[in-house]
Amino acid sequence: MNDVSPGAASAAPPASPAPWGLVTLVGAGPGDAELLTLKAARVLGSAELVLYDHLVSDAVLAHIAPGAERIYVGKQSRNHTLPQEGIIELMVRLARQGRSLVRLKGGDPFVFGRGGEEAEGLAAAGIACETIPGISAAQGAAAATGIPLTHRETAGMLVYATGHLQGAQEDRTVQLDWEALARPWQTVVIYMGVGTLPVVCEQLVAHGLPETTPAALVERATLPEQRCIVGTVATLPSLGVRYGVKPPALIMIGEAVGRQVVPPGGAGMVSGPATA
Ligand code: SAH
Repeated sequence: MNDVSPGAASAAPPASPAPWGLVTLVGAGPGDAELLTLKAARVLGSAELVLYDHLVSDAVLAHIAPGAERIYVGKQSRNHTLPQEGIIELMVRLARQGRSLVRLKGGDPFVFGRGGEEAEGLAAAGIACETIPGISAAQGAAAATGIPLTHRETAGMLVYATGHLQGAQEDRTVQLDWEALARPWQTVVIYMGVGTLPVVCEQLVAHGLPETTPAALVERATLPEQRCIVGTVATLPSLGVRYGVKPPALIMIGEAVGRQVVPPGGAGMVSGPATA
């Protein structure tokens, strides 16, 4: 009945496998390192291994423990260093070697940061994962430019949307619910929208948003080189071209944008009512 050999009882127990590492998804915020949470700064300061994206600022990277190993897994829309599956596989492999690691992402990991996909992939592989939130670009841009996201008189709703429209070239109506985005009484913040700004503005107007609705582009929000361009949903695309706005930048649309109170220092205003 018992197939254990007689000597087995006295043999040394098999070495227990090294415990698997923990993955901590950390929000790096929009750029200004002082916008890191205390928890994020603590975890970075004691990290041994950090995988980071291209949107993480140098100022934030400076908070990583000096001896920590860093792996750049940055993704730019047309220039993927590692595909998403590759990043998940790499994290799983490292964690199974017993290495705990920090996965550092711009803004908040769960706001257009693929944090959800990574958490799912890790969970499927049995790897423990926890998340530390970060200030998302919308909050960073709002505070740094004095543009309120909600306002009791003009905006009782707030929508974050992606402007990264798959098939935007061929089919201009794909993916976003333009009717919902064109409603009054809300602020719409569009991430990854520099390339599709003309399509976005055109569709919003076509779906009923007044052409006079205030709209802003905020480039490199919270960083020293931040620029803020304010116009209307009709003028913003040409202003974006005139000023050569490049990613990372956010588009903010709605009456609340017209309630901007520019903070001391000027918020990098290059165009708009506040510069007039
Ligand atoms: N997880 C991030 C968003 C990543 S998607 C967050 O919560 O902020 C990448 C997009 O975020 C960029 O294309 C841009 O639209 C926006 N973004 C990130 N950092 C930014 C910054 N400092 N200024 C303006 N937009 C920024």
